[in-house]
Amino acid sequence: MAGHDLLGFTCQQMCAFMVERGLPAYRGRQLFQALHRRLVETPEAALELPRALRTGLAAESDLRPLSLMEVFEAADGTRRYLFTVRDGHAIETVWIPDGGRITLCLSSQAGCPMRCAFCATATLGLQRNLTAGEIVAQVLYVLRDAVHRWQQPRPAGVNLVLMGMGEPLLNYDHVLHALRVLADPEGLHIVPRRVTLSTVGIVPRIIALGREPDRPRLAVSLTAATDELRARLMPVNLTYPLEALREACLMFPRQPGERITFEYVLLDGVNDADEQARALLRWLAPLRAREAAKVNLIPHNPVPGLPFQPSPPERVLRFQALLRAKGLPTYLRRPRGRDIFAACGMLAATSRPSA
Ligand code: SAH
Repeated sequence: MAGHDLLGFTCQQMCAFMVERGLPAYRGRQLFQALHRRLVETPEAALELPRALRTGLAAESDLRPLSLMEVFEAADGTRRYLFTVRDGHAIETVWIPDGGRITLCLSSQAGCPMRCAFCATATLGLQRNLTAGEIVAQVLYVLRDAVHRWQQPRPAGVNLVLMGMGEPLLNYDHVLHALRVLADPEGLHIVPRRVTLSTVGIVPRIIALGREPDRPRLAVSLTAATDELRARLMPVNLTYPLEALREACLMFPRQPGERITFEYVLLDGVNDADEQARALLRWLAPLRAREAAKVNLIPHNPVPGLPFQPSPPERVLRFQALLRAKGLPTYLRRPRGRDIFAACGMLAATSRPSA
């Protein structure tokens, strides 16, 4: 990494950085606001800073950790950004418009070590953890691009989902630090309740996350409610089986009205039978009793080379109806950006715009 990871600094850290250089602390606030509010790309463009500081910063720090390789736009307005980081690994960020708001789907690792059988990212294996600056840079880059290249107004609101490449709880410190930077009131001020972190279920880290003072919302990728099937689809289940996972979810402190989201990818003939909906209801029973759970059903997005197919629409609706009949809030995730490989589980650094 070339120089300081300045995009991974909070406003306070940026001020301390200036003081260390013998400069007044307010220079740190000026730079932080230029980067995070005005979205300047290089320190040279932060004209409120003295010239010597601007050139010094440009030489010794890394304000452009991502290089854009390609951007694909889907018919529904979803955009998939394919970036490379400094050492050449590819990562992806997805821009998902939603009325006046947008949702940004961020990567937390280059590749992923979790080996879920139905996911395209799993085929890459883990390349490395992203730095806090590389996570923050994804947000800054796509917001800047929307304004400059696509001439769109700044979105009225931004939601973040850590549902891109990687397992965020295996890059715990960098992810949480990046979220603190993004929540900084001197900058983008994207508060934790606007952020959802999705995990395969790394139990000790779920427990740790619950103890954080400012934490994102929690989503758990479940996809099967019996140990035998879940271990086949998601090898993490061999380390953290369903009972331990449920225990961690039951302990997870929630705000009033807050529910944990359980994501369930529907795979044709694998986990979409009535019996499996009943197993899901049984497994969720103690969480349902506390109104602590909701379910997102995700239609499987086919991945070339993987032996899974999406459940037919009538199966999806029947599965949803069985859960709803028991009072479980159950939503269907509309696949976004499938035609550009941007949808869930399709992120594998492909540069093909479509199949
Ligand atoms: N590693 C974390 C963050 C990634 S979220 C996690 O798994 O939760 C990506 C979501 O897409 C997960 O819920 C995953 O189960 C789902 N997914 C993976 N492959 C998919 C596919 N081919 N079609 C639809 N969803 C998929």
